[in-house]
Amino acid sequence: MAATLTEDLIQIYDALFAAFGHQHWWPAKTPFETMIGAILTQNVSWTNAARAVRNLEDAGMLDPHLLAATDTADIAPLIVPSRYYNRKAERIREFSRVYVAEFGADPAAMAAVETGELRKRLLALRGFGKETADTILLYACEKPVFVVDAYTRRIFSRYGLLPEGASYDQTQRLFAESLESDAELFNDYHAQIVRLGNTICKKSPLCDRCPIREVCGTLRCAVGRG
Ligand code: SF4
Repeated sequence: MAATLTEDLIQIYDALFAAFGHQHWWPAKTPFETMIGAILTQNVSWTNAARAVRNLEDAGMLDPHLLAATDTADIAPLIVPSRYYNRKAERIREFSRVYVAEFGADPAAMAAVETGELRKRLLALRGFGKETADTILLYACEKPVFVVDAYTRRIFSRYGLLPEGASYDQTQRLFAESLESDAELFNDYHAQIVRLGNTICKKSPLCDRCPIREVCGTLRCAVGRG
């Protein structure tokens, strides 16, 4: 009998977990640090974003009240490693202002807002796309929202579960409609996808080392089969 989509997705996750172990995301000490990290990692590797986060921390600036009140010209030099630093300084300051004014700089107050409403509020901020908003919803607010990135689309289209060029929403629906709405599962599943995409399912994939190549005991991946 053919495996259902749900079974496929669970088996893929189990195989990734068995290969890589729990990923313990998001790598941050506080929810606010996660929120700032989500902005800083836009269009750059996490390594670069992490350097910018550390600079803010070392300067004593990883504080919503300080960032909300500081001139962007003073924020930008600290986040140079994240590239696009002038734009990101503006985004960080605007986000911090909203976080202070509308949520009292309290992650619990932010997380208490209904998911759809909070997502809409985040998406209304300048420079906030779906991946940034969903990253904050999942990793800072622990909402069961599946985060989609380029790795997700690449891996699951190669695997044959998504068409080439699938949209963000189409990719998100694949997981949201097939898996239990579980923030812990979504947290680690996305982290596993990033690990696979970063180390094995690259532009030139290393299929012979791939832990999901033979999920269900058969060669399932369209590329890995070759
Ligand atoms: S088998 Fe190859 S193409 Fe398929 S997911 Fe693994 S690394 Fe990517």
